[in-house]
Amino acid sequence: MSAPVIVVHYHELWLKGRNRRFFLGKLHSALRRALGGIPVDCIEQPGDRFLIRLGVGAPLQEAIERVRHVFGIAYYAVARPVERDMEALCRAAWQEVQPLQFTTFAVRARRSDKTFPHSTMQIESAVGRYLLEKLRAEGREVRVQLRDPELTCRIEITPGPLLVYAEKIPGLGGLPANTAGRITCLLSGGYDSAVGAYQMMKRGAHLSFVHFYGTGARPGESSLHVASGLARVLTHYQFTARLYRVPFEEIQREIVRYAPESFRVLLYRRMMLRVTELFARRERALALVTGDSLGQVASQTLRNLAAVDAVASMPVFRPLIGMDKIEILEIARRIGTYDISSEPFHDCCPVFLPRAPELSAKTEELNEAEATLDVASLMALGVRGATVEKFTYAEGRVDSTEPRSLVHTPSGHTTPIAIAKQG
Ligand code: ATP
Ligand code: MG
Repeated sequence: MSAPVIVVHYHELWLKGRNRRFFLGKLHSALRRALGGIPVDCIEQPGDRFLIRLGVGAPLQEAIERVRHVFGIAYYAVARPVERDMEALCRAAWQEVQPLQFTTFAVRARRSDKTFPHSTMQIESAVGRYLLEKLRAEGREVRVQLRDPELTCRIEITPGPLLVYAEKIPGLGGLPANTAGRITCLLSGGYDSAVGAYQMMKRGAHLSFVHFYGTGARPGESSLHVASGLARVLTHYQFTARLYRVPFEEIQREIVRYAPESFRVLLYRRMMLRVTELFARRERALALVTGDSLGQVASQTLRNLAAVDAVASMPVFRPLIGMDKIEILEIARRIGTYDISSEPFHDCCPVFLPRAPELSAKTEELNEAEATLDVASLMALGVRGATVEKFTYAEGRVDSTEPRSLVHTPSGHTTPIAIAKQG
């Protein structure tokens, strides 16, 4: 018999009216790209689903693992191909259904091949009757229920083998990758910002990442490899990414030298936002994203967030703002960033941490505290020291380039990054 078929039911896309074709095209190319290197005969679209016909010898578990990372899927299923014969179909349906636990069920057939001699109604009732008899013969208490059954045995009548499946695997949901424009993420090594990034990717945004690191880490404890590890995992969901790595210690030292102690962390954040915006412009991103959650730490009180944001000229998204840490960690585990964020690393922010951080800063107070700083020079310092690492997904793995300086590229030209005058 031919190789299995993965049936993909997409998510929410029907909402999109005239843009449907665009979203479906993006989902189709995301599936193709995700499955790169695995033999796939074709990806068909007979109505409101995709049928991925795997080629002979395709590794099924690997293919499922790849599809699991694709946004825009409500659920998917591995369908059993069956010869074009009602008896064979009934037997295959029984094999699918027998191991599953349920009390109500229905059979649903769809026909994209109109040459098959039985109507969908005939198929549904014949297979339904067969299953009911077999189930009752095993002494199982089950009944047919057409509306909202616990289990639906689905049959696809397509040209070629018939397909039958009963077990649905939930997909990631969201919108297909790279359909919503670009956003730049302030990526620390912690749990939150990677989850925040994921939440925006799930809505179709393509992310670039900016990470600020301190020097003076013990060997093996730099935050750089953690940020790099997170960017690598996240690239599986969007296929490409750039990580800007910015040395932050000199900037911090200037802040420590000139600004009141209680404002330090907030001023670090402001500088991070400003420098990130420079890279965001280079990336043609229209917004930033952070992992802030309201009240989680002193720098994330409502007033402090507002006072920090006052220097941003782009929208700053905070998809975790209303989430508890437990909810955030749950997502981190699911998306594969938890273990990386759990590694010990040298976080730049606690360096020179104030003994009593301000909980309720006003924008004007931070402006005043910054008046003695040469903000534009500090931004330039960040850009000059920055390096960029590029990540690319192919055939189930993500490779990255050696980090390169932005200012002196090998071709000798200077990457244009405009540093606006600060008022
Ligand atoms: P996370 O777990 O993501 O580190 P957190 O709870 O530790 O978050 P903070 O350290 O206050 O919170 O950081 C708040 C947000 O500021 C982070 O989610 C991230 O978006 C940004 N941020 C903090 N440190 C850095 C850094 N070193 N590089 C880039 N962004 C950072
Ligand atoms: Mg942090």
